[in-house]
Amino acid sequence: VKRKGKNNYLFFDEKMKEKFNKKIRIENILRKALKNESFVLYYQPIIETRTGKVASFEALLRIKDFNISPEVFIPIAEETGLIIPIGKWVIKEAIKQMRRWRDKGHNSLPISINLSPRQFFDINLIDYIKKTLEEYDVDPSFLEVEITENVFAEKKFETVNILNRLKALGVMISLDDFGTGYSSLNYLTFMPLDKVKLDKSLKDKFIELENIKIMDSLIALVHGLNLKVVTEGVEEVEEFRRMRRAGSDYLQGYLFSKPITIEEIGEILNKDYTK
Ligand code: C2E
Ligand code: CA
Ligand code: CA
Ligand code: CA
Repeated sequence: VKRKGKNNYLFFDEKMKEKFNKKIRIENILRKALKNESFVLYYQPIIETRTGKVASFEALLRIKDFNISPEVFIPIAEETGLIIPIGKWVIKEAIKQMRRWRDKGHNSLPISINLSPRQFFDINLIDYIKKTLEEYDVDPSFLEVEITENVFAEKKFETVNILNRLKALGVMISLDDFGTGYSSLNYLTFMPLDKVKLDKSLKDKFIELENIKIMDSLIALVHGLNLKVVTEGVEEVEEFRRMRRAGSDYLQGYLFSKPITIEEIGEILNKDYTK
């Protein structure tokens, strides 16, 4: 870079500046969205493989009127600490939604929410979840939390401790994005988990290599630890069939539905996805 002279520095500075400005811009959008309550949860159904019925929903955060991916704004929220109030909003909104279903006389279904590291280690997290479940009188076993491996990369002891307290509350726990990080199977043996979500990339890799047998063994192993398996990112019918054969308990992906608004949920609730 240096060899090419001064202009490159300028170029580099501009790029940095652009990146920095973008971050500030998104941070401002997040602050405004918090103030104006203009966050919204989208829901993606998770299908029970055996019955083809919707078993639960994963709540995925969006900002009203902005087309910014959570892949972009969640890291900024995490970095700035805004994830704490935003995460509280997500927890409350998901719990409120389960209560609304019940009030309308619907069969309520579990909702899972994503927790990023800073939220997970927030000392108020457990009390907040407990308090909110009580406030809306929602059965804790209907709330699921999804955490990724990077959460407990360095803080094993603390993580197990928090997970145990969540379990004691009655909340369900999923290990998200399995197969993307260091993915030591070892984690599965000492974490009090309920489900393992196989990442889309892992499923793609096995199917591409026609190495579905390894997938069979991996799923058998997870079952051996008394955990359920969810396959993420199922886009093709053929993948659905293969993952069903491999023993995946649940399936999630665009093949069934993309994340949808609460208003759109009615249309898919009683659908049979084996058809
Ligand atoms: P994730 O938890 O792994 O969520 C799954 C992502 O995969 C979602 O992206 C979903 O829309 C997408 N997806 C679902 N099915 C398919 C498929 O068949 N093919 C493909 N290519 N993608 C599929 P989304 O909604 O953009 O969220 C991205 C990430 O942002 C999430 O990944 C999660 O890590 C984070 N996130 C979203 N909402 C929240 C939240 O409320 N709190 C926190 N802490 N993180 C969130
Ligand atoms: Ca997730
Ligand atoms: Ca995931
Ligand atoms: Ca992911």
